[in-house]
Amino acid sequence: MKTFIFDPIDSEALECARERIDVVEWTNKEIKNYSIAEAVIVRTFKMTKEVMDKMPKLKIIAKHGVGVDNIDLDYAKSRGIRVTNTPQANMNSVAELVIALALNCSRKVNLAQNMVEEGIEKNSPFELVGFELQNKTVGLIGLGRIGTLVGMKLKAAFNTKVLVYDPYTTESVCEKKGFIKYEHLHQVLKKSDIVSVSVPLTKDTENMISARELSFMKKSAILINTSRGKLINENDLYNALQHNKLFGAAIDAFAEEPVSKDHPLLTCNNFIGTPHNGANTKDALIRMGTEAVDEIVRLMNN
Ligand code: NAD
Repeated sequence: MKTFIFDPIDSEALECARERIDVVEWTNKEIKNYSIAEAVIVRTFKMTKEVMDKMPKLKIIAKHGVGVDNIDLDYAKSRGIRVTNTPQANMNSVAELVIALALNCSRKVNLAQNMVEEGIEKNSPFELVGFELQNKTVGLIGLGRIGTLVGMKLKAAFNTKVLVYDPYTTESVCEKKGFIKYEHLHQVLKKSDIVSVSVPLTKDTENMISARELSFMKKSAILINTSRGKLINENDLYNALQHNKLFGAAIDAFAEEPVSKDHPLLTCNNFIGTPHNGANTKDALIRMGTEAVDEIVRLMNN
């Protein structure tokens, strides 16, 4: 199956693709002979109706990653083009980034480095007083693939209590993992020292953490969002951080991406921002690339 790879993929995954399918590699986005494509692998490349119209033989779109918002799903469906993704491939990397951000935020690692760079004698060490994760309470907003891994890792490494808000999971699922399910978001927000958001962005979840929800959180707590920027009202978060209504926050996904260096949140010294870096590990990149190829082979044979 003639497969076009439109975005760069890991070299090991590319090698595996070459062994298993007929690859037409990306060089630039101006490949002329679109019309021969039967399958494509895409990361951020936009599979619009116009692009698909140039590919009359297209049967499979394999997303390298999870979110398929760069693909016109309705049009693909109307053409009978099958769309697949690699949801398992990057969850561990994202979960590990949550832990990295929790530790960074609770120990003010970024601020500490800034102080060293400025000359530590100018600053008071009290500004760097942090807190341990050991024996603290974690609130998971969303108990899917990533939320579950975050809870399990924090419980195993730091003996944390794990509270869950996810209306689509059950008490018994939580109990089996040693977690405690709550019916209401505010209950989890009020009790947690570390709140981690791992839910999809939908019209129901947009702005699910706004001024009211932030006001339920402890002043000593941290908020971490590695999901989608629009889940959190950034203006309200800015106000909460400016007025020290939270200990800190760390965010890997912003409402507008790429995030501007002038974003107000970046002026808060109790804020850490990363540029949608959750899946950006060698390990996840190999898995995403090879699983995208696996999916093409699987669908070719079905
Ligand atoms: P998942 O589908 O496995 O889990 C999502 C969970 O959210 C489900 O358990 C669902 O029941 C729950 N949920 C839905 N609506 C909810 C609500 N209103 N309140 C509470 N819970 C709700 O997804 P996942 O693989 O765990 O990924 C979570 C999100 O992480 C994705 O939607 C994606 O936006 C993001 N993500 C980010 C990166 C990154 O690079 N930062 C990488 C992969 C995924």
